[in-house]
Amino acid sequence: MRCQSCSVYTLKEICSKPFCEKGLSKTVIPKPARYSPEDNYAAYRRKAKEVQLKAKGWL
Ligand SMILES: [Zn+2]
Repeated sequence: MRCQSCSVYTLKEICSKPFCEKGLSKTVIPKPARYSPEDNYAAYRRKAKEVQLKAKGWL
C-alpha cells in the first residue's frame, strides 16, 4: 500500500504521517509498471537470436 499524498509505503489503509493532508492520505496498491525495460530487453534478445538463426540457415 502506498500513500497518495506522501508516497510512503505502509501496510495501513490510511497513512499516519502527521504531515499528510487529510483526505489525501488514503493509501492505494501501487500499480505495476505497464512494461519493464527488462522485458523489452528480453524480447529484443529473442528477436536477435531469431535473426541470428535465420542468418545461419542462409549460410
Ligand atoms: Zn502519507
